Amino acid sequence: FKESLGKLRDLPAETTDGCRVTLSANIEFPEEAKHALERGAEGIGLYRTEFLYLNSKSAAPSEEEQYEAYAAVLKTVGPDRPVIFRTLDLGADKPHQDGASAENNPVLGLRSIRLALKNLPMFKTQLRALLRASVLGDARIMFPLISTLMEFKRARMVLADVMEDLQELGIPFRKDLPVGMMMEVPSAAVMADRFARHVDFFSIGTNDLIQYTLAVDRTNETVASLFNASDPAVIRLLREIIKAANRHGVDCSLCGEMSGDPIYTPLLLGLGLRQFSVAPHNIPEIKKIIRSVSLEDAKRVAGRVLRLDSASEITSFLRDRTRRVV
Ligand code: PEP
Ligand code: MG
Repeated sequence: FKESLGKLRDLPAETTDGCRVTLSANIEFPEEAKHALERGAEGIGLYRTEFLYLNSKSAAPSEEEQYEAYAAVLKTVGPDRPVIFRTLDLGADKPHQDGASAENNPVLGLRSIRLALKNLPMFKTQLRALLRASVLGDARIMFPLISTLMEFKRARMVLADVMEDLQELGIPFRKDLPVGMMMEVPSAAVMADRFARHVDFFSIGTNDLIQYTLAVDRTNETVASLFNASDPAVIRLLREIIKAANRHGVDCSLCGEMSGDPIYTPLLLGLGLRQFSVAPHNIPEIKKIIRSVSLEDAKRVAGRVLRLDSASEITSFLRDRTRRVV
């Protein structure tokens, strides 16, 4: 079985009726880029750059340390495959020195892009390092936890400021680098069609999207059974995000844990998703599922799931189907 998965590496992620899907990897450390490529990743769909901060002994890694890490990933991945750098997603489940604070509800507090926009020197340092590295490959920038269009525009403005500074200093960077956002807050999901006019790509973060949609803390064991990707409310939001992206010609990937769980692969394909980003070790299995399903079947699965009323019915249906097919 292991061997047959190995052989899959060089085969395309394509349905039995010829629909090509992009399968990329999520990484947290630069060293993982190599493993991801070895397993057949077509790029890095999510580089969680905050891990550099979480690992750093000093308060924050310097611009140079960050540049080195970003440059290493781009060099490993090469010029023909994209690397999506997610800007700092600190706070909540990824606590940090800077005001890891006395908030009553850190998950609803000053975290992620909110923290970056409050701490501009930290944010700009990261953007400078990213832009400087951008000439080394197909770098893309993604902002996490965007909840309003204004917030996205503000983050973009900070990026434009940093670009201007580099330009004045004669430091090269990719001026046309795509800028996208995580779709992981229900307010953004509901407004996906509006966001689609302003962003270059979406990446759906189901870990947070489920947490905020169902009001279930993703790290709280006592409510873990309520955290469920099969919830019909979650699936409706996914359908709307993917529909909006496809209608506006905006790239849309799914990088939350859900994309690495094979029971959801046909459903997501049927909802119109064409880009998956998963942990490197999940790539072969997800590719195998993609290569075993037809788009026609996947659409039937999605149609059926959208008519069901509860997470348990949806999970049973998807599990049974996976058992029968794989
Ligand atoms: C997510 O929220 O689904 C996601 C991919 O990001 P993280 O798990 O780092 O919050
Ligand atoms: Mg998230």
